[in-house]
Amino acid sequence: MKTIKEPAREIRVRAEVDVLVVGSGPAGIMAAEAAAKDGKLKVMLIESRGYLGGNLTIGLPILSYLNAKGEQVIKGAAQKFIDRLRARNAASEHTPCKLHISLTIADSEEIKTVAWEMMDDAGVDVLLYAFASDAIVEDGCVKGVIIESKAGREAILAKTVIDCTGDADVAFRAGVECRKGDERGRMQPPSLMFSMRGVNMAQVRDNVVNHYDEYGMDIMPPEQFRKGKFTMVGMRKQLADARSKGYGLTVDRTIFTTGINDDEVWVNMTRVSGVDSTDPASYTHAEHKCRKQLYEAVRYLKDYIPGFENAWLETVPPFTGIRESRVIVGKYTLTKEDLLEARHFDDEIAVASYPVDLHHEEGGDCTLIYSKGDYEIPYRTLVPEKIKGLLVAGRNASMDHKAMAATRVMATCMAMGEAAGAAARIAIEDGVDPSEVDVKKVQKALLDNGGYLR
Ligand SMILES: Cc1cc2nc3c(=O)[nH]c(=O)nc-3n(C[C@H](O)[C@H](O)[C@H](O)COP(=O)(O)OP(=O)(O)OC[C@H]3O[C@@H](n4cnc5c(N)ncnc54)[C@H](O)[C@@H]3O)c2cc1C
Repeated sequence: MKTIKEPAREIRVRAEVDVLVVGSGPAGIMAAEAAAKDGKLKVMLIESRGYLGGNLTIGLPILSYLNAKGEQVIKGAAQKFIDRLRARNAASEHTPCKLHISLTIADSEEIKTVAWEMMDDAGVDVLLYAFASDAIVEDGCVKGVIIESKAGREAILAKTVIDCTGDADVAFRAGVECRKGDERGRMQPPSLMFSMRGVNMAQVRDNVVNHYDEYGMDIMPPEQFRKGKFTMVGMRKQLADARSKGYGLTVDRTIFTTGINDDEVWVNMTRVSGVDSTDPASYTHAEHKCRKQLYEAVRYLKDYIPGFENAWLETVPPFTGIRESRVIVGKYTLTKEDLLEARHFDDEIAVASYPVDLHHEEGGDCTLIYSKGDYEIPYRTLVPEKIKGLLVAGRNASMDHKAMAATRVMATCMAMGEAAGAAARIAIEDGVDPSEVDVKKVQKALLDNGGYLR
């Protein structure tokens, strides 16, 4: 491979803060808010895109605030976020679901607004359009990050950095050991979401209920479609028929979720196998393919699903969503067995219930494996094994391939983010590295904020 030598140069220090959060997805906004709590610390949140929210803004239902018994297990800051959205009529109730345990619908645009409101109220300094391209590491401790922007290359120094990039970008650059995918390095495929409006929802519901057996549905009983919000996963027979007639569909199931508006759905029916989003050429390939696929999915829905005849393509989010990329190797790696056996950890910082939801690395299907009960996420999954001064929250925390396929959902990522933010704050207050923080104090902070632990 051809290389060039980049000359060393002096760069500007844009800011010096106590806690720097990188990435503003569900984990990042909760981490920043929790770190800034009480207003004692200087907290900064940087984001490479022009808005806050990450994957919360691409039209996905927020899965698994509830457990299989319908009890709420994700509470605290994640619930307060929903309360803010509800005050704007922009979020639904937490709705039980046989397949996905529970779903909560929230409006993508309002999420961006509410995330700003949260950062303003917490006194978090937000910097958009800033990409963290490197980590500043001294003696095995992260001291800040290098950012790239229209202003050039700059440094932000911090006592603690929380990596919420989804791709463990900061951790990777800091030299933290990272993994990708299954034993062969294969990852879950990315998908480009899109919304449709003009759907006759009454007709969709009637058809599913009245023709349930003809459709090939995935374990959800017909009652689930009668009223309220739902995710449609199934209609396999229609899909197979469309494929046999030449429709260019890459998924085996029809998947769409009701939106905030009655005539609105968000469709999850594109996918590209073999993508590594940490390589821009590979991610570009995914964008290119998904954009072609979405028109085939629109054509299929309009031709095959009663109620969609007069619907139109309304919104395509600005990026193809990444289900899986890098995860760190932390002080503890949560395994599929921990999760399915519902094992207890003394350093639990979140309780979750979502099943292993593995979109096959190849082909168009998905496997769900349910846990025997609620499971716990230990604090050590947020702490890199070796490097200090750094926490990692969200889908890039330390999980094996299958455990990550469960913990990646957004309610769980929010809970991990809140825990990381609280831990960073408490560690600075106590003058210790986040790897040495008193986890009991973190647990108390989470409970004091209305959280739930076992
Ligand atoms: C197609 C698809 C369907 C899904 N379905 C569901 C679902 O139905 N329900 C559900 O709850 N979950 C679902 N998920 C999973 C969920 O959306 C993600 O796992 C979750 O959003 C991860 O949260 P996060 O905060 O870790 O990262 P993200 O939401 O990815 O946020 C990361 C943020 O960091 C920013 N960033 C990244 N790198 C840098 C950098 N170097 N510098 C600065 N900023 C950076 C990004 O721009 C982004 O804003 C789905 C995911 C996909 C892709």
